[in-house]
Amino acid sequence: MTACSQGWISRRTFLSSAAGTGLIMAFPLVDQAEAAERGGGDTRRLLRVHAREQWDARPPRQRAQILNRPPNRIVIHHTATANTKDYSLEHAYRLSRLLQRFHMERNGWDDIGEQLTISRGGHVMEGRNHTLAAIKSGRHVVGAQVRGHNHHTIGIESEGTYSNAPIPAPLWYSLVDTCVWLCHAYDLNPFLAIRGHRDFNATECPGDVLYAALPYLRKEVARRLRRLNKWLPAHGTRPIRPNIKVPAFPKPPPPPKPPKIPIVGRTKNRTGR
Ligand SMILES: [Zn+2]
Repeated sequence: MTACSQGWISRRTFLSSAAGTGLIMAFPLVDQAEAAERGGGDTRRLLRVHAREQWDARPPRQRAQILNRPPNRIVIHHTATANTKDYSLEHAYRLSRLLQRFHMERNGWDDIGEQLTISRGGHVMEGRNHTLAAIKSGRHVVGAQVRGHNHHTIGIESEGTYSNAPIPAPLWYSLVDTCVWLCHAYDLNPFLAIRGHRDFNATECPGDVLYAALPYLRKEVARRLRRLNKWLPAHGTRPIRPNIKVPAFPKPPPPPKPPKIPIVGRTKNRTGR
């Protein structure tokens, strides 16, 4: 590990303290900061990442390659599957099984290609084997999601086809949460790190609509990291990227506010869970 990993231990220990059974990875998000600013209260909103055991993944043909360094890019994809209205967890599990079967049987890969999958209902799933363990330790599991760039990129598959369809709110919020988590875990600058699949390969992925939303995703993730930063030092934890240059935003909008992102189905809580 690099020298900077020393500093990660304390914050990672802190941040994974609510991990529970280990089957669900939990990560406290900026709501904790907001709750703290209000003088306490509910700090339990967590990003839940459902591990492979939960969606009943089949064993990989071989163990994933794990690199002893973080990735430097987060690649956003769409699955190019139907824009279902089934937002249930059961559906999300089925989706991951379907993708894994397709990638292994049709593409002949060792396992599901991407490291993380987010359903239209906003459920976040572990993809390639050992992904959660690798992220927790600041390392990189090599996936199969961006030809020629798998050794330095971590991929998020967003369920649906976003050539012209709007992005469902639960998916959008979980995408923001997941990118906050990854930027934090890997110490990445969202303005540099978050990219679309088409930035690397000749592909329509992640669709014109989702691709056009990426600048808003970067800004929102940066805003959230900045808020998280304010809160962490007060709790004895090293700040995240203290020198990150985050442009000032006129007003922190309730995401996804920008009118150019066609989002449908706003939910009461931010993840729809
Ligand atoms: Zn893609």
